[in-house]
Amino acid sequence: MALPKPHLTEVPDSGLSLVCEVQPDELALGPDDGRVQGELSLSVEIAKAGTGLSVTGVLTGSFLRQCVRCLTEYEDVVSLPFAVEYRHEESPARGRPKSPGAEARDLPELEDEVYLFDGERLELAEMLREQVILTTPMQPLCHEDCQGLCPVCGQNLNERQCGCPGEGLESPFAVLKAKAGKQKRV
Ligand SMILES: [Zn+2]
Ligand SMILES: [Zn+2]
Repeated sequence: MALPKPHLTEVPDSGLSLVCEVQPDELALGPDDGRVQGELSLSVEIAKAGTGLSVTGVLTGSFLRQCVRCLTEYEDVVSLPFAVEYRHEESPARGRPKSPGAEARDLPELEDEVYLFDGERLELAEMLREQVILTTPMQPLCHEDCQGLCPVCGQNLNERQCGCPGEGLESPFAVLKAKAGKQKRV
């Protein structure tokens, strides 16, 4: 089933709950945004909030990532809770009605959690895409205590110890490699 685009008139006052599967290509996710294994599952609650909508829910799925230390690919099952607000494009986008004396420049910037919509159909794709990107780790690790690769022989030290002499004793080249490896871990 394709990602629903509920019309505002389809959202009853009591709110609307949807559960569906989402294909990764519906979110236009690139290879750097995490490679989704199979489908994502979406569970979402849509409620009216003034002239806008409050949208909360959870997106769950399995992503294939590559560990920055040992370069092994691993599956990362994640559940991304979100709580955002959709505001009608034509309504004052900056929230609160202007109270006398309030200066325009004091109004807060449009927060990250606020999305604009045309007041008719709710487009969830862009918001969900951002949720995925925001939670993609910059430094993915297969395990927090991943041992990484031996800087000398390249052995994956999670699998076995290779018995290479200690750090950087072999050659200046190994020292450099070891340093490069360390920098990546920061
Ligand atoms: Zn690793
Ligand atoms: Zn080694």
